[in-house]
Amino acid sequence: MNTQTTAQITLPLSPEKENWLKESIRDIVDFPKPGIIFKDLTPLFKEPASFAYALDALAQKCSELKPKYIAGIEARGFILGPAIANKIGVGFVPVRKPGKLPYTVERFEYTLEYGTDCVEVHADAVEKGDRVVIIDDLLATGGTAGAADSLLKKLGGNVVGIGFLIELSFLHGRNKLPKDADIFALLNY
Ligand code: AMP
Repeated sequence: MNTQTTAQITLPLSPEKENWLKESIRDIVDFPKPGIIFKDLTPLFKEPASFAYALDALAQKCSELKPKYIAGIEARGFILGPAIANKIGVGFVPVRKPGKLPYTVERFEYTLEYGTDCVEVHADAVEKGDRVVIIDDLLATGGTAGAADSLLKKLGGNVVGIGFLIELSFLHGRNKLPKDADIFALLNY
């Protein structure tokens, strides 16, 4: 771990810290479609103390899992993942939407309520046995993170953890995630 990580923060966060971080998360009703309450993290990212605390807490947990890489899921996993990787002194691997990556890719298709979606990663992103922690901003139904996990495992990666800033616990998304990985989130709703 490099010297940028100063705070020793263990999970779960104290109720005070959890409430403090939640104060800078904005609910956007009916976005991107009716019935969804979108958790807008941009006010938290804009506030230096909140952003730093969230990154420190996630980085601390990630470093305990001793990954070789942090894999971030497009798009908001690209705000958190690289900063965490840099803090703990490991590399970053992007998991992207189809057609974005320039080199040979491995892909994993997954089923949505209507239709299918897909995630891609460079075929040489991880090697057999490499320890990987997946990071995304939010766990809802678990479809996206579960797909990223399956994709990295296709390459032989050893997914040791999957972390989020927010978990929408009432959707039980963690049931779709592997039992042998450490699933963690800073904030629960
Ligand atoms: P899921 O695959 O259902 O777990 O959805 C997780 C992905 O969708 C994450 O990449 C989130 O960024 C996004 N997402 C799903 N629901 C929400 C929500 N209520 N607020 C913000 N982002 C969401």
